[in-house]
Amino acid sequence: MSTPKHQDLHTETLAVHGGQHVCPTTGAVMPPVYLSSTYAQSSPGVHQGYEYSRSHNPTRYALERCIARLEGSALTEDQDPSFGGFAFSSGMAATASLLETLDTGDHVIAMDDLYGGTHRLFQQVAKRSRGLTFSFVDMTDIDAVQAAITPRTRLLWVETPTNPMLKVSDLGALAQARSGRDIILACDNTFATPMLQRPLEHGFDVVMHSGTKYIGGHSDVVCGLLVTANTEMAQRIRFHQNAVGSVLGPFDSYLALRGVKTLALRMARHCDSAMELAKMLEASPKVQEVIYPGLGNHPQAEVAQRQMQLNSMHAGGGMITATLDTDEAGSRRFLEAFEIFSLAESLGGVESLVEHPAIMTHASVPIADRAALGISDNLIRLSVGIEALVDLKADLQRALDAV
Ligand SMILES: *Cc1c(COP(=O)(O)O)cnc(C)c1O
Repeated sequence: MSTPKHQDLHTETLAVHGGQHVCPTTGAVMPPVYLSSTYAQSSPGVHQGYEYSRSHNPTRYALERCIARLEGSALTEDQDPSFGGFAFSSGMAATASLLETLDTGDHVIAMDDLYGGTHRLFQQVAKRSRGLTFSFVDMTDIDAVQAAITPRTRLLWVETPTNPMLKVSDLGALAQARSGRDIILACDNTFATPMLQRPLEHGFDVVMHSGTKYIGGHSDVVCGLLVTANTEMAQRIRFHQNAVGSVLGPFDSYLALRGVKTLALRMARHCDSAMELAKMLEASPKVQEVIYPGLGNHPQAEVAQRQMQLNSMHAGGGMITATLDTDEAGSRRFLEAFEIFSLAESLGGVESLVEHPAIMTHASVPIADRAALGISDNLIRLSVGIEALVDLKADLQRALDAV
């Protein structure tokens, strides 16, 4: 069996087989973990495609080919060094490496509601050390995006749904807004995963993942991924990945690859259970507002229904944000009462997690910006796991009772 070449394979199949092949030497069905940092050459410069492990690693390549297939990049040929998937030591390293492809003075338009670490990288690092300029714009408003474009704009960075406000941006409309300009369109697809939405199909150039979340899926690996379908972009990213060196190690590549195989099953369960818990929160008198892209009252429900689909059915993902009808002390009681949900940062694992964005994940976002986005002291975020729904419901009820 070799790598399935058919472009029409379904994402469920690609999650298991994408970019994988049986080891020609041993017949190993699963990709071996290649720890060797260097590879023998038969004559100077003559080798089998592998020289040094920062530049080329077969285990990392297996993961990189798999994510490229999952996101629908056509650049997946095994022997082509510019195939379109790239694995980094963290999601932040992936984003930072993409920024390295820009030049001093370039302008970036970024979503106003962003993962806190991305906001920090843009505002507190890249501005100073790389001389990039940033405009933070609500990308659910296409006119606002158009108005922010300058002659120096080289990158548009969107996250959809966003963390933690779960705002949904219209990827097709953003691609249209670029209309012929030399601007790289990049989407942080961590929350939706390629099971729910594939930005390249909407005309985007680059997809980024914190593979730490749903792709890995088991909260046991920190990993970042980039995917592109553009050959020139792929060569640029490959060059910078090697030049900067924040690559994913072989063990972590193996763990992420093992995790991604069950992505389809996990996402289906995450979405089904999150929908039920969102409805339960909506019905509770202890809750002021529920934001969930699967609900009809989501602020961008129409875009979400069109853009986020699993097996041709609308799917809202596994993340829920809610505002409790209480103060910070009441929110603390809520968060401390859970027995199955762990009070922890991160998301996207098989286990359910709950957190307080203002104190935990988004503390690095300035208070004024948090207030403007609605990240208040009574805002909580759930990452719904794959446990039995009845147990999760009972746990959520216990927490609501404690408010
Ligand atoms: C976690 C996360 C990141 C950062 O990824 P790391 O793997 O933690 O470096 C970026 N974007 C989103 C949406 C995230 O949730």
